[in-house]
Amino acid sequence: MTDPADVWRGRVQDHLDAAGRPPVGGMADWEVFPFEREGLTPKAMGERVVPEPDRSRGADACGTCKALARDDLVLHTGDRLAVIRPGGTSTMFVANVVARAHERLDDLDETADEELGRLVRRTYRALRALPGVGNVHVCKWENGGGHLSVNLLARPLGVLELRGSNLPVWADMLPDIPQDEYDARAEAVRAALA
Ligand SMILES: [Zn+2]
Repeated sequence: MTDPADVWRGRVQDHLDAAGRPPVGGMADWEVFPFEREGLTPKAMGERVVPEPDRSRGADACGTCKALARDDLVLHTGDRLAVIRPGGTSTMFVANVVARAHERLDDLDETADEELGRLVRRTYRALRALPGVGNVHVCKWENGGGHLSVNLLARPLGVLELRGSNLPVWADMLPDIPQDEYDARAEAVRAALA
């Protein structure tokens, strides 16, 4: 049987230069794109790797499991899911809706799916209600680590460069907010989720 991903990769090959690089795309012209088009060099695309390397970590090496054990990072504990925050952030606030056990989104049942929907909605509203927040973006990357994490990122009001899907890229380049400010917002979010 034809492998659809192999067909996809074959088609893309015609779009790449001799070094395997695609041209810079239209996103580079977006008002919110963090880099100037001039001088941007896309990475070369390698061969497909199938089966993919196992990126999963055991619970003992999992950052989310470690965060769940820290009271200062846990914002809410539900039935099967919880809401935590990372130790620091450069944006206004970040909250992650995570499984309480070391499991993936793929592992949830219908009851847990419903809890996930409720918790994402409640966390979204809690972050949206923080003073100085212009918008809250919701994403799930997880990327094979093995622990469900839906990330909610709060953007500072009026900082238009940070709008949209490039927010994590901007956030990576900016300094962390003071810890006491972050902790105070965590208390507000914890209270809203109680
Ligand atoms: Zn884990």
